[in-house]
Amino acid sequence: MSAEEESAFDVYRDRVDRPLYRLFTEYGLDKWPWLVLGMSANVVARGASLLPPLVLGIAIDAAFTGNEPYTLPFVPAAWLPTTAPDEAQFWFSVWLIVGAFVVTAALTWVYGVAANNFAHRVMHDVRTDSYAKMQDLSMAFFDDKQTGEVMSVLNNDATNLERFLDDALQNSVRLGVMLLGIGIVLFDANAQLAAVTLVVVPGMILFTYWFMKAVEPRYAAQREAVADLNTRLENALGGIQLVKTTGTEAYETDRVRDTSHDYFRKTLAMLRLNYVYRPGMELFAGIAFATTFLVGGLWIVTGTAPGPLTGELTAGTFVTFLFLTQRFVTPLAEVSNIVSQYENAKASCERVFGLQDIPRDVTEVEDPVELGDVEGDVEYDHVDFAYEADGETVLRDVDFEVAPGETVALVGPTGAGKSTLLKLLLRLYDVTGGAVRVDGHDVREVSLRSLRESVGYVSQDTYLFDGTVGENIRYGRFDADDDEVVEAAKAAEAHEFVSNLPDGYDTRIGERGVKLSGGQRQRLSIARVVLQDPDVLVLDEATSAVDTETEMLIQRSLDRLAEDRTTFVIAHRLSTVKDADEVLVLEGGAVVERGGHEELLRADGLYAKLWGVQAGEIESLPEEFVERARRRQAETLAGTGPSTDD
Ligand code: ADP
Repeated sequence: MSAEEESAFDVYRDRVDRPLYRLFTEYGLDKWPWLVLGMSANVVARGASLLPPLVLGIAIDAAFTGNEPYTLPFVPAAWLPTTAPDEAQFWFSVWLIVGAFVVTAALTWVYGVAANNFAHRVMHDVRTDSYAKMQDLSMAFFDDKQTGEVMSVLNNDATNLERFLDDALQNSVRLGVMLLGIGIVLFDANAQLAAVTLVVVPGMILFTYWFMKAVEPRYAAQREAVADLNTRLENALGGIQLVKTTGTEAYETDRVRDTSHDYFRKTLAMLRLNYVYRPGMELFAGIAFATTFLVGGLWIVTGTAPGPLTGELTAGTFVTFLFLTQRFVTPLAEVSNIVSQYENAKASCERVFGLQDIPRDVTEVEDPVELGDVEGDVEYDHVDFAYEADGETVLRDVDFEVAPGETVALVGPTGAGKSTLLKLLLRLYDVTGGAVRVDGHDVREVSLRSLRESVGYVSQDTYLFDGTVGENIRYGRFDADDDEVVEAAKAAEAHEFVSNLPDGYDTRIGERGVKLSGGQRQRLSIARVVLQDPDVLVLDEATSAVDTETEMLIQRSLDRLAEDRTTFVIAHRLSTVKDADEVLVLEGGAVVERGGHEELLRADGLYAKLWGVQAGEIESLPEEFVERARRRQAETLAGTGPSTDD
């Protein structure tokens, strides 16, 4: 893969514009009731939590000392026990305080439920949607082995976003409400003392601004380091067999240690700023408290406003001030978390949309043809193919037609293009020139679903899902009943061994179940295709050795499967091509010979030589063939096409 393609992810990630805005508009809008409910509950709960200190101050002045009338900001006097005896004012205050706590508690609950619902519903949709979109990318995307990165997007990045939507968003609302609410209450109670108390706020804001600027690059560095660490771990674990067989454990441990240490250093570098920030904020709050206590205390003790201040300060107001001064530290100190979650979320969101924005190259036309019962006529019409836009040509002018029901064997050296040729039939990739047709329909005009239902594929590396034997077979056709599954297994020569498994067809296989041998796995995947009952069959004959008996069973089941349907076999054993109706010999991306087995043997070309090697008649390919193969490949690379002079 070329460098550009490897970074397809990065390219589209970098193009994402205003990711968080997009997250809200694409996934958040339809869940607005949760968001609005959460935000409002949060605002009211925070507001209510400011009430007790305020009421306490008023109660001291009115009910306890009787110095002042009972008043509340923004509340008409008629609603308050202004003229009642002190005791009534006291009880009113008690109910107010209790009420405030109850409201705070209840709305904090509502806010928790609503905020969580919003965050997790959004992320559920993002995850599912991203998965579906990613799955539609062509095989070219997955060839780059970006699965680790995709996993990390669907896991880590989704979690980051969840945390942001859940915590950071609500914490910033809380911060705003608290600052504003405390400011209003204090200024309303005593504007002059409020000015003294809040004189530190600009300092706090500047300090926070400095912190945000300073911490941002360190967060970025830390995020990169964690990505490096993940890649390293994934690599080392993925290649664990290689590590063990080459005895490079110590080397790998060193590499992991280095990357982990780098992550550790960068995390500490980031945390060092936090260590300064939090105590710094405490200090500011301390200054605010001490100044308020000093100025307010002097005011009350001397009975006159100190310095340039004027007017009166009551003991109750003073108490309210002292309580509330302490209340704005915690939300402000959260700023560091909010910033980190915001930065993380932005980066994660870019990756999510970067993944979603990678264009699909194998797409359906509008109103695609639905293949119903397929005759099985397959035509390759002057097909050219390259894996990358301006990359090496892998197939060149491949042109042949197969009549319904025929079996075609593809032979040729490794890298000749046999698998590629058949992947074009399944439309895992699109041709770069010419066309592939099934029953006369260009595969690009056919719906992908009906195409892949009509073309069955038994690959070399059989993949079985974590699940039961039955489920794995049924993957070929979900609505098959138990009898059909058993019939398919019988046809694939798998019934015997499945019946001997501990739970028969209900035996779990895969990571958390029993391990099956290569030959058994292969027969299960054949059963899957038997059940699918496709009209065209593509077989990639396994090269891995199985014992003769198993091979015979597999061969038998494949023969049965190939009966009555158009079949392509990538033949690694030349013995299997003897029965084919036609043999296509590929070399360097071109069909160099074609015909029946006998006919090709008589022609004494590449096929005859390959056959000779296989049958042990000659030791190795004659030098002239090796030379010719090299030349052809070099020419293909140079784009001059295969030579025709021989
Ligand atoms: P065969 O099946 O005959 O062994 P393939 O079809 O696998 O040959 O490969 C044909 C050529 O295409 C080889 O040069 C191979 O390196 C290249 N190739 C195969 N798969 C890919 C891929 N996913 N991306 C890029 N090049 C590929």
